[in-house]
Amino acid sequence: MTTTTAKPALEVAPFKNERVKDFKDPADAAAMNAALETVKGRLGEHYPLVIGGRKIETEKKIRSVNPAQPQQVVGLTSSASKDEATEAIDAAAQAFTSWRHTTLPERAAYLFKAAQLLRERRFEYDALLVYEVGKSWSEADGDIAEAIDFLEYYAREALRYAQPQPVVPFEGERNELVYIPLGVGAIIPPWNFAGAIMIGMTSAAIVCGNTVVLKPSSDAAVVAAWFVDLLHEIGVPPGVVNFIPGAGSEIGDLIVTHPEIRFISFTGSKEVGLRINELAAKPQPGQKWIKRVVAEMGGKDSIIVAADADLDAAVEGVAVSAFGFQGQKCSACSRAIVEAGVYDEFLEKLKRRVATMTVGDPRDPGNFMGPVVNEGALRSIMRYIERGQSEGRLVAGGRRAREDGYFVEPTVIADVDPKATIAQEEIFGPVLAVIKAMDFEDALAIANNTEFGLTGSLYTSDEQKIARARDEFFVGNLYFNRKSTGAMVGVHPFGGFNMSGTDSKAGGRDYLLLYMQAKSISRKV
Ligand code: NAD
Repeated sequence: MTTTTAKPALEVAPFKNERVKDFKDPADAAAMNAALETVKGRLGEHYPLVIGGRKIETEKKIRSVNPAQPQQVVGLTSSASKDEATEAIDAAAQAFTSWRHTTLPERAAYLFKAAQLLRERRFEYDALLVYEVGKSWSEADGDIAEAIDFLEYYAREALRYAQPQPVVPFEGERNELVYIPLGVGAIIPPWNFAGAIMIGMTSAAIVCGNTVVLKPSSDAAVVAAWFVDLLHEIGVPPGVVNFIPGAGSEIGDLIVTHPEIRFISFTGSKEVGLRINELAAKPQPGQKWIKRVVAEMGGKDSIIVAADADLDAAVEGVAVSAFGFQGQKCSACSRAIVEAGVYDEFLEKLKRRVATMTVGDPRDPGNFMGPVVNEGALRSIMRYIERGQSEGRLVAGGRRAREDGYFVEPTVIADVDPKATIAQEEIFGPVLAVIKAMDFEDALAIANNTEFGLTGSLYTSDEQKIARARDEFFVGNLYFNRKSTGAMVGVHPFGGFNMSGTDSKAGGRDYLLLYMQAKSISRKV
């Protein structure tokens, strides 16, 4: 078996989060402007599939465009057919026969190297996210900082699992428990944390000794292509990470149902996650295992504002959580549930705060919000806004902010019924429903009334309310007197309850266990 119990070969400092840049430092701003120019020079490049280390150009391409200027092509990636997806799974299975015999510390060393290179190229990656998914400078940097954190954190976690695991001593036997990899996995990330989630899921899988096929989101395929190149540059062997962009509708089912696939690590919408879970549950001819599915899905996240809250802090927390990255975070606040006593004052203050939010091309750091990711998202968000106007009172926004890209105004709809469509369905855009609660009891009941359970916040100065919420606010990530977004690796392990997913707690101590199985070994002595 593998030498997973080997002593770590590396001495490493304790994990520390990367500091996210605010770009007030003129040197950082200059570096970012230079990176935006450099990356502009690379727009429109072609990126092949990578299968068993071979680069394969296909005729069919996926066009990744800049949502702020949709005529600008960020890159063209080859698009895998069913045959190529099958080849990629075969290549991963072949590579697994040797990769599984490397040690956890050896594999951790690759992650440390990847983190270092990503750090050196941080501004270029930041700039790419500005072009590819419409992130503001600081949102883009937060995404890449989190990606570096995942690499650093999972590398250290791998070293921890390489240590002897405690088992109860038993006379006459020598017993041990070692963690071994699962096999070939499918990595299916979303576009919204195009760097962090894609890199986090891929690196967690491979550091545990698995090999993978990485099927990126078509809206963020270029950043995934860059990362796959980086992995090959640092010497990750061919076949360990196979890169197969392609339409989910075309190759998704094949990947998920292939009998050689041992696990699927998915982050994305509830609809796709549930479909994957269902398909993966049915054993296929030749399949020897129950597939493991890690599915992190959508949210409909609430911030409760109690009557005793610091109202200015609550307004700021709600505004930033609702409209940062255009509301396109699974943790975004899409419902503010406000106690009746402060409802009118809260709304007035929120309206004033939202009026200061600028929307425009995210290359300009003066813009707080950029575009939403694509035309489909734009249409869907505008439909929800229309619906919302019949379900409540439009207080701010409600229109496209500009016609030259997919820009939507930060939109606030007040007096929304807790069961209304815009209070229940994930919109994934800059639309906030404000709901009046009779009192705290009512607010808590409303907060728990969706099928989701991802993040939630409570603004209050009342310890009793904090204690109640601690017990009864049913979300995977609960915050007090702070925004509902911005979970940090290691600090706030992340994952939701109910239809928000399998609660995998990315960036936490339980996460790598999802990519391994434990082998108990006993020898009579
Ligand atoms: P999505 O479900 O549309 O796509 C996610 C991934 O699945 C993409 O790579 C896509 O190509 C692929 N896919 C689509 N159809 C498929 C199929 N039939 N089979 C296999 N794969 C398929 O989601 P999205 O729009 O990329 O991301 C936004 C969603 O992700 C939101 O719902 C958001 O809340 C959620 N999200 C959740 C978390 C979390 O940690 N819970 C984090 C980020 C995003």
